[in-house]
Amino acid sequence: MRLGELEILPVLDGAMDVPVDVMLNQVPHARWLTPEGLMPVQMGGYLVRSGERVILVDTGFGQGTLLASLAGLGVQPSEVTDVLLTHLHFDHIGWASEGTTSTFPSATYRCDVRDWQHFVVEEHEEYMRDMVSAMTPKDRLMPVVGQLELFEGDTALAPGVDLRAAPGHTPGSTVVVLSSGTDRAMLLGDVVHCPAEMMSQDWEMLADVDPPAAARTREALAKEIEGNGTLVGAAHFPGLRMGRLLSSGSGERDWAYQS
Ligand SMILES: [Zn+2]
Repeated sequence: MRLGELEILPVLDGAMDVPVDVMLNQVPHARWLTPEGLMPVQMGGYLVRSGERVILVDTGFGQGTLLASLAGLGVQPSEVTDVLLTHLHFDHIGWASEGTTSTFPSATYRCDVRDWQHFVVEEHEEYMRDMVSAMTPKDRLMPVVGQLELFEGDTALAPGVDLRAAPGHTPGSTVVVLSSGTDRAMLLGDVVHCPAEMMSQDWEMLADVDPPAAARTREALAKEIEGNGTLVGAAHFPGLRMGRLLSSGSGERDWAYQS
């Protein structure tokens, strides 16, 4: 889709349906689940074009179709100018490298310094290892350390592309704010995994490093975007489709995927 001067495209790596209780502390309404009651979970990232910049937001889990999806969009790995990692969980950094080689040799890789500290320097174990390859964030990111720029908190990435701290899911979780004129969109990383999590404040995601902070971040974000037309996408929404948080006016929220 286009957002004024910007282009925002999903880049799929794979998908799986998982039991709700490995993701969330309660069961969402059936509208968010498969007929079997499982939660559909997409893996992948988003491609954002801003002028000459070709920005990949997250790199999927690393064993799927991300590179083929990029090729389908006419993008070769060497053409990617920026890789923005919303956080360093394994299913966001999978294609950062292949073996000991950088996947995107011309790109500047970026992540918040607080995730680098938590996952790479301190090597906290929770939800860090790729379940298939057992690779850690350190294993994935050492091949690109020479291309890496760390940032701390809010910063500008490119014209119309700003990064905002969204701590809780991980210490350095980052939201991408896209703007062109009065149009606005946001890529939420793992701040939410299912739109239901923006409807009320009693959700918890089981991989959240700091659940109370994650809940505060989620609610502040929901308040900011409800009813104002901001398009949002998140790293695991089915098909990486974007949508809008609607406000009924009586305090109730609803969600509509973009058609
Ligand atoms: Zn995550």
